[in-house]
Amino acid sequence: MSDDTLATAESGVDTAAETAAEKKHAHEMNKLSKRLHRQVGQAIGDFNMIEDGDKVMVCLSGGKDSYSLLDILINLKQRAPIKFDIVAVNLDQKQPGFPAEVLPTYLKSIGVDFHIETQDTYSIVKRLVPEGKTTCSLCSRLRRGILYRVAGELGATKIALGHHRDDIVTTLMLNMFFGSRMKGMPPKLVSDDGKNVVIRPLAYVRESDLAAWAEHRQFPIIPCNLCGSQENLQRATVKAMLQDWDKKFPGRVDNMFTAMGNIVTSHMMDRNLFPFQTIKATGVPDANGDIAFDEDESCETPKPATIQIVR
Ligand code: SF4
Repeated sequence: MSDDTLATAESGVDTAAETAAEKKHAHEMNKLSKRLHRQVGQAIGDFNMIEDGDKVMVCLSGGKDSYSLLDILINLKQRAPIKFDIVAVNLDQKQPGFPAEVLPTYLKSIGVDFHIETQDTYSIVKRLVPEGKTTCSLCSRLRRGILYRVAGELGATKIALGHHRDDIVTTLMLNMFFGSRMKGMPPKLVSDDGKNVVIRPLAYVRESDLAAWAEHRQFPIIPCNLCGSQENLQRATVKAMLQDWDKKFPGRVDNMFTAMGNIVTSHMMDRNLFPFQTIKATGVPDANGDIAFDEDESCETPKPATIQIVR
């Protein structure tokens, strides 16, 4: 076989391998797209996040999560049985090096209504927080107040944030470890000013899926470290711990997440949630009642609860 013939044969093999890899990738992305849209649709339905006539303000930071949120909501809007509007909002906090043109260029290219709010919170934070102290708490408080105001000005009825399943479980762990309370991050809440309803349509979505989606869709990601502040160390540690657990025991984070929707108040210790002080024997056998003396109960691996794990 001549060198030319050999080269042609080799290039034929390469092309076939590339085509197979492309097909596999396209198939995986198609599955991912379906999963993401199904999970977001389900979260919206389960918590009645978006109603007919809503104007949803999607807060866009330029990170993978908020880009994905906007992208998925735009798609769902086209197929939803209800009518709702979307307005994307970015707060330009004047962090050094923030590429101010990236988001407007992207948002114009996809034809969505948007508003860029420019407020130099960076200087305020730098001025008020002593060097070496963490700036995130003041920074987020300022950002929150501005976004609530903007929502009112734009006539938005819902504020959508890009927090996902892993954020929610991490927050639960953080609150348990450092705050001594079982408190996560709600999929829907009334804001602290009482004027806004905040929703988290990505509540059922895994962070790794959002990373894959952002890469696939090639969103123009803006780095999140422009303010010079490090990610909260405790949050980073808990996140790494959860990722490690999930690698060693696949499904553990899913189960923890699902547990947040299956709380048995009679088996916790919050006297505000269950009337321990007033319970009395009823004298009536209950097949589903508790087996207080069954020692094995605490040793067995609990059976998975009947829940909606959305994949
Ligand atoms: S990381 Fe920077 S921009 Fe983000 S909340 Fe903290 S101080 Fe603000």
